[in-house]
Amino acid sequence: MSTEAPTPDEIQKKLSEFMREQFGDKVVLTGVMSQPEQDATAEGEDARDAETPLTFDFNLKPRDIKEHLDRFVIRQDEAKKALAIAVCDHYNHVRLAEQEAREAEKKVSSSRPPQCEYAKQNVILLGPTGVGKTYLVRCIAELIGVPFVKADATKFSETGYVGGDVDDMVRELVHRADGNARLAQYGIIYIDEIDKIATPSNIIGRDVSGRGVQTNLLKQMEETEVALRSPSDLPSQIQAAMEFQRKGKIKRETINTRYILFIVSGAFDRLEEIIQQRLKKSRIGFHAAQETRDIPQTELFRLAATADFIKFGFEPEFIGRLPVRVVCDPLSEEDLFQISQRSEGSIIRQYERSFRAFGIGAVFKTESLRAIARLAHKEQTGARGLMTVCEKIFRDFKFHLPSTGIHHFEITAETVENPQRTLEKLLAAEAIQERPILEAGVVDFCLRFAQRHGLALKPEPATMTRIVDRALQEKCNVRDVCARIFKDYEFGLNLVKKNTGQAEFLIPPSALDDPDEFLSQLVVGSYRKESPAEGKPAASATPNKP
Ligand code: ADP
Repeated sequence: MSTEAPTPDEIQKKLSEFMREQFGDKVVLTGVMSQPEQDATAEGEDARDAETPLTFDFNLKPRDIKEHLDRFVIRQDEAKKALAIAVCDHYNHVRLAEQEAREAEKKVSSSRPPQCEYAKQNVILLGPTGVGKTYLVRCIAELIGVPFVKADATKFSETGYVGGDVDDMVRELVHRADGNARLAQYGIIYIDEIDKIATPSNIIGRDVSGRGVQTNLLKQMEETEVALRSPSDLPSQIQAAMEFQRKGKIKRETINTRYILFIVSGAFDRLEEIIQQRLKKSRIGFHAAQETRDIPQTELFRLAATADFIKFGFEPEFIGRLPVRVVCDPLSEEDLFQISQRSEGSIIRQYERSFRAFGIGAVFKTESLRAIARLAHKEQTGARGLMTVCEKIFRDFKFHLPSTGIHHFEITAETVENPQRTLEKLLAAEAIQERPILEAGVVDFCLRFAQRHGLALKPEPATMTRIVDRALQEKCNVRDVCARIFKDYEFGLNLVKKNTGQAEFLIPPSALDDPDEFLSQLVVGSYRKESPAEGKPAASATPNKP
């Protein structure tokens, strides 16, 4: 079978065959795939005439956006400002353009007014992993109320079905907007690892598809119509066929990418050297090489010129469509501490919430947050390190605590340094409180056993301790533990009683090692006894050695 994706015509042919097989002549499949293209103009009008007014409510100012971001994202002030401005410019333009279009429609003008010159404010974000690049964009999309889609550029070049994947992102926006194609047209598409589709000219024959992906993205970043029904999505094609059957025409459903904001990002590791080389060449002076080597990566990125990106492997047209360049800083240990303490979306809040769901109050001491930040920083994965560290610390807490009576615990520096020991201590403290209750459970079991069978079980103090230990260890009901230990005792002890008249039985701790063996020795011993040891209670329960 060919690995190539089928063409629309091939799909249509197969669909027609399938429909004919299933329904004979009752269903006719005509022009499902090509119809939308034919009807493009007419249906384009259709889309404009739809009941929903083409309004986009945007009246935020850059400062509003920055203030919102400050609640969630720590540091990255420059990125916040640049993004806030770019987003305001973009959506203000969208609002004005839509307003003009509506006014023109009211004036019954047959043609749309010429749009004013506007260069879309697509953004390129540079910075290491886990420093908040995605988080910034996600927070902005949530604030504005537009759908947000994140994709990985490496995926595009791997599949070989470049165009389809790029279009899929646009369709995904509609999905995220609960099917609202209008809202999807104002969405944000975020493409990570964009540096992986660069094709450096000095590496011959490498990754030709990278260039193809850039070209495809270029088209979308500019303006293109994407069909809402994917040619490779069979269910939606069948739906189209049914619609055609019912109405005799198919509503052309496309989404225009004109107002979609594109934000791309990457770590751009190789870019650093390219900038350094350029700077070295341009600097005349004795210490030029040394000087450029001393510039930190973030500062070098701030000096990046279009030529550097082209040398890195981007097509000039592609990088030209990304006019807003934003650099995100690496996060220090102090930043990680601030994130855990101040960010409203911090992973710590998430842990507090998940413990709270089990009725457990988890209180993080400041010292513990410092210790977590210290460990997370060593991971070298930005704020993602916080998640890795917390997962390691709290996995066993999350597993055990919900099944105990613990309703409150504090997380200290010691908890972070040695989670296992802290957990054991917590459980032990809980056990101390529970012990008297469990011991009463054992006494109660023996009482009922005596009432029901006329046989008195008398666990020695050490036996009692071991039964309670077992119940605590196995985290199960102490009566169930007793029932398991003394499972066959009713029958065996009754035999002993018959042989010897003995009705009280002292249970030593050794009996718990092998309760069956203990019982059988009692029974065997009772047969050997010549006469019942009348009136001699419990002590004689210890089996006689043969
Ligand atoms: P990337 O820079 O690789 O896109 P993300 O934005 O996906 O990293 O960060 C991963 C997670 O780490 C976020 O969901 C967020 O919880 C946290 N995070 C990262 N950077 C910050 C930051 N500067 N402030 C607050 N939280 C952050």
